[in-house]
Amino acid sequence: MNLILFGAPGAGKGTQSSLLIERHGMTQISTGDLFRAAIKGQTDLGKKAQEYMDKGQLVPDSIVIGMVEEVLAKGLKSFILDGFPRTVAQAEALEELLKKMNISIGKAIFLEVPMGILMDRLTGRRVCKSCGTVYHVASKPPKMEGKCDVCGGEVVQRNDDKADVIETRLKTYHEFTSPLKEFYKKSGKYVEVDGNRDTEEVYKEIDKIIK
Ligand code: AMP
Repeated sequence: MNLILFGAPGAGKGTQSSLLIERHGMTQISTGDLFRAAIKGQTDLGKKAQEYMDKGQLVPDSIVIGMVEEVLAKGLKSFILDGFPRTVAQAEALEELLKKMNISIGKAIFLEVPMGILMDRLTGRRVCKSCGTVYHVASKPPKMEGKCDVCGGEVVQRNDDKADVIETRLKTYHEFTSPLKEFYKKSGKYVEVDGNRDTEEVYKEIDKIIK
């Protein structure tokens, strides 16, 4: 089954996607990760995206949609869209793309997490620069400070996880992404999952939904 995983920044989309990859062999399409890879590779796409990302703003729809179209055209077996769509215009464009490519989405899962919790998750989040493993300063610190348990890479704070940028990201989420709930309710694909629980508990519920 193909899935859309959506929710505010820090809701746990990336964490749940990692588990779905590991346990269900799904492929993650994370537009945020794709942009970060493009920034690392200093491509034109990366340079354009960085201007918006550093400010906590959304990358323009035309850029994101083109990028997702390229990935979908590869013909993935079962995928999770993580962080896309993020606007109603992107959701509409996605419908068109899926129709054109004869692909269907099973469920659009919304991870619900209260605002106060999101703030703590995002300000405390740290990531490995090399392999992307996610940590949290209080609830999941690496065994050795600043060093990734998995690959030994440098563990850092994302530029857009700084307090002032987080505020813009959360505002952007409310204005542009939150309306997607109504969009997917209308399509009959919407499922809400309480994301304010232990990672494994959240996973169990998602696992049930997709089975
Ligand atoms: P994420 O890793 O999903 O939190 O995304 C990090 C940043 O990448 C966002 O704050 C946006 O600037 C950009 N981004 C990721 N996905 C999208 C999208 N679907 N539409 C617009 N911008 C995006």
